[in-house]
Amino acid sequence: MTGAAPPLLNGLSVDVEDWFQVGAFERVIARDSWDALERRVEANCDTILRLFDDAGVKGTFFTLGWIAQRHPQMMRRIAAMGHEIASHGWDHARVFTMDATSFAADLHRARSVLEDVSNSAVTGYRAPSFSIDARTPWAHEVLAEQGYLYSSSVAPIVHDHYGWREAARFAFRPVCGADLLEVPVTTVEVGNRRMAAGGGGFFRVLPYTVSRWAISRVNSHDRRPALTYFHPWEIDPGQPKVPHAPLRSRLRHYTNLAGMADKMRRLLADFRWGRMDELVRNERERMA
Ligand SMILES: [Zn+2]
Repeated sequence: MTGAAPPLLNGLSVDVEDWFQVGAFERVIARDSWDALERRVEANCDTILRLFDDAGVKGTFFTLGWIAQRHPQMMRRIAAMGHEIASHGWDHARVFTMDATSFAADLHRARSVLEDVSNSAVTGYRAPSFSIDARTPWAHEVLAEQGYLYSSSVAPIVHDHYGWREAARFAFRPVCGADLLEVPVTTVEVGNRRMAAGGGGFFRVLPYTVSRWAISRVNSHDRRPALTYFHPWEIDPGQPKVPHAPLRSRLRHYTNLAGMADKMRRLLADFRWGRMDELVRNERERMA
């Protein structure tokens, strides 16, 4: 064997929701007030699409059914540019607040709108706030029953909003005899310490070099693909401020919004990125 192995293909993803739909603000902004609030998701998605296009990369857009229903043109634009449309559920209800029946209905409702407006097949799912965990042993079975090929819904870590510490760090088959693959959010391990390193606040709040180090470590030390995720509101310093949210949530939500686009450009240039369904195909081959 000569020469270095080609760089691993990492998964690039966007969780498409608006500034008022994030889990951290759930208690202060009621769902029935959403329609009265200013929607900024479409302009922010267009910025992200330009960033991806400039870098020549394709990614996966895990979109809420609620958003897709109100922004069909945006969905068609995303799909037409070669990105994958996947599901983020209907209205950001966390999976552990549902039961198997209501989860199945939520999945079905979101998927039919997503497929309808984008005219593309939806085979991937990401749970709002990575809310598939030890409390939802039925969730992967429901996804398999509905024919999903992958889920990226588990955080093998403890966090104040989510986490399933005992879950595997890399792709696994959660349902015996089913094709479904779960691709957990990326974590990095040093000694016996494990950190979430997949994106969101980790990427935005900490210096870029920390993310670069973490993804390099996963690619070279673990020899596995990493995944990253962004939210459209993370590149939007002009979004309305939510005054009554918990201080900790506000600090995390509003930090470094202005520097985000530059950071994303560096990340996109420093690693090899692709759609989640591509990463899943590679993982499936590796596991075969
Ligand atoms: Zn979300």
